[in-house]
Amino acid sequence: MTFDRMWSAIEPIGREASTGGYRRYAWSGADATLREWFAAEAAARGLDLVTDRMGNQWAWWGDPDAAVAAGRPGVVIGSHLDSVPDGGAFDGPLGVVSALAVVDALKARGFEPSRPVAVANFVDEEGARFGIACAGSRVITGKLDADRARALRDVDGVTMAEAMAAAGHDVEHVGPDHETLRRVGTFVELHIEQGRGLIDLGRPVAVGSVIRPHGRWRLDLAGEANHAGTTLLEDRHDPMLDLAAAVLAARSAAAAHGCVATMGKVRVEPNGVNAIPSRITAWLDARGPGEREVRAVVESVGQQSGCLALEESWTPETVFDPQLAKRLSALLDDAPMLATGAGHDAGVLATAGLSTAMLFVRNPTGISHSPAEFAERADCHRGVEALTAVTGELAR
Ligand SMILES: [Zn+2]
Repeated sequence: MTFDRMWSAIEPIGREASTGGYRRYAWSGADATLREWFAAEAAARGLDLVTDRMGNQWAWWGDPDAAVAAGRPGVVIGSHLDSVPDGGAFDGPLGVVSALAVVDALKARGFEPSRPVAVANFVDEEGARFGIACAGSRVITGKLDADRARALRDVDGVTMAEAMAAAGHDVEHVGPDHETLRRVGTFVELHIEQGRGLIDLGRPVAVGSVIRPHGRWRLDLAGEANHAGTTLLEDRHDPMLDLAAAVLAARSAAAAHGCVATMGKVRVEPNGVNAIPSRITAWLDARGPGEREVRAVVESVGQQSGCLALEESWTPETVFDPQLAKRLSALLDDAPMLATGAGHDAGVLATAGLSTAMLFVRNPTGISHSPAEFAERADCHRGVEALTAVTGELAR
């Protein structure tokens, strides 16, 4: 299978020797190498490479505009090639490499698509460098303002506009891209599963049903800086106690409401071992089956910490096209339907009104965003076979 050759080719790109994890950040050197690799793979297959206004890459088999004129816009498959800090090999690349292998499989069997087929590589899905996830799909759908995106800064103070320009992308025309979106009749994103659903079911491939509602909140906990050795306990205003209450409340409320919640980022001032903190800023990530449940968790965290949790982002439940999901499941030997707690470009496109589906490939560790993320090679091949069946059906 051509999957194996492509997988070996990209395996060393952006891998950090000390951790074994990947650092493939948007508009970085590793990203440029991956984008060149993608362009070369497209050229080798005779696909027409189009880079949209945000820098997402689309490799077309067939004329997408003739299809739009005929009222049968294309079938797009693919994912992203960037990673989180020290991420795994599969989150993103599995979908792009599988999609290219699907084109090979369809061509090998002499398939003539009745609708054009494209392989997409979305830029900056993880938001690892500039802080906003799915920037590539959010900008072209108008969900992220172009000026705001251009002004985002990485940890070194480099703006997205500067990074794009350094990589040779036309910064001026970054923005909503109707021209690109109208070519997409259906988008199917294959992705490594980011949990244990398929191991427990004993199945290699699932169809995505929904992305659970999720959000981020900030807690600003005020205290009074003072000496950790000389201040009497009763005289202390120690916000670390409020933070502790908030962390425990997040866990117990999440368990009570069928949600998940974590406070994974905390800023302590002045952050000295022998100083009572003057101020703590902490961030809560909460996700769950419904808005009501997630809101209940956030409320409980606020109550227990004595501080109002400020909403920094909120994404309501994203439902993938239910008829399409049912059709794909039936096509794939009644593949199970799985909900996910992770955001994806497919979710952004679904929210923008496009017919969208996801396929998940079994991950025996259940771990993601870590070098421990994994898929057996046989399951990768089953993923390619599933996506081949789906693409063949949709472009029949
Ligand atoms: Zn991903």
